[in-house]
Amino acid sequence: MMHRLQMTVSRRDFLRRAAAAGAVLGLASARAAAKPARKAELKLCSQEGRVPGKRFEEKMANLRKFGGVGVELGGNPRNRIKPILEATKNAGIGVAALCWGSHGGDLVSTDAAKRKKGIEDMKSALETAGELGSTGVIFVPCFNGQSNLKPPELDKIMLDILPEIGEHAVRAKSRVLIEPLNKGETFYINRIEQAVAICKEVKSPGICIMGDFYHMCKEEKDDEAAFVCAGDLCRHVHLASRVRWLPGQDKLKQPDKPERSFVAGFRGLKRIGYTDYCSLECGCKGDPMVEIPKSFAFLRRQWDEATV
Ligand code: MG
Repeated sequence: MMHRLQMTVSRRDFLRRAAAAGAVLGLASARAAAKPARKAELKLCSQEGRVPGKRFEEKMANLRKFGGVGVELGGNPRNRIKPILEATKNAGIGVAALCWGSHGGDLVSTDAAKRKKGIEDMKSALETAGELGSTGVIFVPCFNGQSNLKPPELDKIMLDILPEIGEHAVRAKSRVLIEPLNKGETFYINRIEQAVAICKEVKSPGICIMGDFYHMCKEEKDDEAAFVCAGDLCRHVHLASRVRWLPGQDKLKQPDKPERSFVAGFRGLKRIGYTDYCSLECGCKGDPMVEIPKSFAFLRRQWDEATV
């Protein structure tokens, strides 16, 4: 099957088939197609480094005090599994995604040894994620400067490597979360529909996607339609303002510009019955002990405004 895909899928065919499968929908048809099987929930979460506190336990207690219910961890915290489980359990905090990244672009490298090592390390991160009860491992195929290949060549490599990684993810009770980034960070996979097209070709429950509001405001025409096109494939969300500070802090930097609105995106999340985490990945202007609770309150208001 992998061989067949490699031999036959041109990028134009690939995108056309994905479109035919419903990945690229207009908003009207996307709305009609979306029938959430469950009520969406806003589960506020933060990357570990964003939360104030000297020790992990203190961070988790603060996060809980702010009303957060999940923590996103960096890389592969294989040697911290036990203390993480203890501290999160004590604080009543869940483990969200592992922010793993691109491994230097090794998984899509043309160097067989680099690719092999990248895949092995991804598999180890998936095992850690499974043991932590994490929602998945965030994966960026390559940042700008990490690959000289063209997008169609990268598509072929992705379709080659992901079925096996997806099977491993399912065995480990976790999943890969492909993260689209803005063009300033990667030339490959900038919009949610492009990541969805890959998933729809691979067809593995272990290969899913996520959306990052910061990148989305640069690349997506319509946040609502973007999430609706992902449907159940969307299993994690990053939250940041337009200038990548806490949601609700845009006007501190750009008083003449409108605040980044989360309402359309939240409407999309409600339409797909989203119940995974929405995690802060951003800077903070001011004291995080004061500003994170303000940002969470802002996000809750935006969630309430997103009526469907
Ligand atoms: Mg992100």
